[in-house]
This record gives sequence, C-alpha cells and structure tokens, in this order.
Amino acid sequence: MRNVKWLILVASFIIVSCRRDKIAPRQYKTDYVVIVVMDGARYSETYGIPSKQYIPRMSQDLGSIGCWNTSFYNTGITNTINGHVAMTTGFLENNLENSGFELPTHPSIFQEWMKLHPQSQEKAWIVASKDKLEVLGNTKDNSWRDTYLPSTDCGINGLGSGYRSDSLTFAHSIKILNKHQPKLLLINFKDPDTYGHAGDWQNYLQSIQTTDEYIHSLWQTIEQNPEMSGKTTLIVTNDHGRHTSNFQNHGDDCEGCRKIFFFACGPDFKSNIELNTPRSLIDIHATVSELLGIQNFRRGSVMVELFK
Ligand SMILES: [Zn+2]
Ligand SMILES: [Zn+2]
Repeated sequence: MRNVKWLILVASFIIVSCRRDKIAPRQYKTDYVVIVVMDGARYSETYGIPSKQYIPRMSQDLGSIGCWNTSFYNTGITNTINGHVAMTTGFLENNLENSGFELPTHPSIFQEWMKLHPQSQEKAWIVASKDKLEVLGNTKDNSWRDTYLPSTDCGINGLGSGYRSDSLTFAHSIKILNKHQPKLLLINFKDPDTYGHAGDWQNYLQSIQTTDEYIHSLWQTIEQNPEMSGKTTLIVTNDHGRHTSNFQNHGDDCEGCRKIFFFACGPDFKSNIELNTPRSLIDIHATVSELLGIQNFRRGSVMVELFK
C-alpha cells in the first residue's frame, strides 16, 4: 500500500516537471540566496502539526511574507549527505557515502556560481555544524574537481574535525552575513537530528524551536543589511525527516523520512500562501539556478508556483 502511494507521488512529480519546466527568461530582483537546512526534523513536529507550536517564528512571523509547500519530499536517499547533495547538485545520488569521505558525483551550485564569478570566493559559503558537509563544495567530476571552490566553515575546523554546536554555527553565520554579504550561502543546523538519534524527545523538540529562532534572527540580520535587504531570497527546508514509527532514526522510504517542510520568501516570490505542488529537494537546485542566472543541466524543475 505504501509503495502504491509512493508510485502515485513519483508519477505526479513527473507530470509536474514536464508541464512546468519551461518559463520565460526574466530579470529577478533576487541578488542573494540563503538556504537554511534544519537537519532531520520530522514534518509531524514542524509544519505538519496544526498548531505549528515548535516553529512559531517561521509559521507566524515569516509565514506572512513567504510561501509554504505542503507536498515537499526527499525523493532520494533519506540521510544527511544525500539529502543535501540533492539540493546543491540537482541530482539524486545512488547512495553516496554519508560520512563525508566521498565527494558528490556532480558539481554543486556553489561551483557553478563560482565559475561565473571566479574572483568572488568570499561571496559563496557553506556554513555547517556538521564537518562532513564541507564535501558539498567540491565534486569528483574530473572536469570540476578542486576548481571554483566556495568558502567553507564546517564543523570544528573543517572536514574530519567533528561536529560543532548550532549556537556556534549561528554566530558564524551572522558574522559571515555581516562581513561578506554572501550571494549564495547554505547553512546547516544539526541539533534536531542529533537529539533525535539520542532518543531525547524533549531536546529534539526544543532544538526545532531554537533553530526556528535562529532562522528568524538570520532573516532580521539580512533585512537590516542595506545591501541584502529587499534583494535576498531565503529557502528553509530539511535534508530528510525521521521514521514515522520511531523518531530516533531515519534512512528508508517511509512517509516520515521522505516528507519534509519547505518555506521560501524573497522579492520574487508570493507571500502568505500555502502551496501543494509536489516538489522535491532537486527542485531547489533548479530554482536557485534560475534566480541567480546559472545555466546548467537541471534534473529538477524550477518551482514556478512560488513566483509572483
Ligand atoms: Zn541523522
Ligand atoms: Zn523511515
């Protein structure tokens, strides 16, 4: 029964992407894109709970200025590296090593952007509590490997150094926003996933609320910045959810692992609207590429329903 439901969902993705992929070339107001990933928070504790009590900032304060999508999914491998790589490369990997010791098969949107702006390494950033996410900046594709690399600030001190606290990642993100005004920035907050794995329900819920506060503060920082204000698109999502039947783990194709939240706001997007077009993480790559004028081979589709 679950498989039948999943097949219907996959079919709807194909129909949507065939129907809506073409959009007329446009000039966008967006100059800056910030993607924030709340690692491993399950939909049933975020936007899926009617009160939305653990994400009050996003659902109330930011909700009025942006779009939610209630049919958003990780359609690939539901772990951290594969979830993030889907959004940064637009490809679903065939189970990339989740430890951070294997580079993505395809170049990321950071490298694609850096190729267009080769002198601007301080304008493209990956900032993450999990050190292993540094791999998002590079690829094993020989024609791109070790070229056009973005700036990274991941874990305690880069790949292999271990995880650091979300409070540090938040502080570093604010500092980088103020100092560099990145044109493309991805931030990962790890705590919902970490407390989930620890089986610590209270801290799992608390960390969703704390991340919600961080996201609101990040948006305030952006809006107070004279360069970025009114020209920044913010996208917030999860890399994966958690098992429907057990919040401690994740990684299969159950609804709890696949279904995630999606929120976006910015000068080119509609405000105060809830959409239900079936979408997945690879469509973030296509949509950000569209906003920043990056021509690439897109496996995902531009989320045209978000646009004004
Ligand atoms: Zn995990
Ligand atoms: Zn699951």
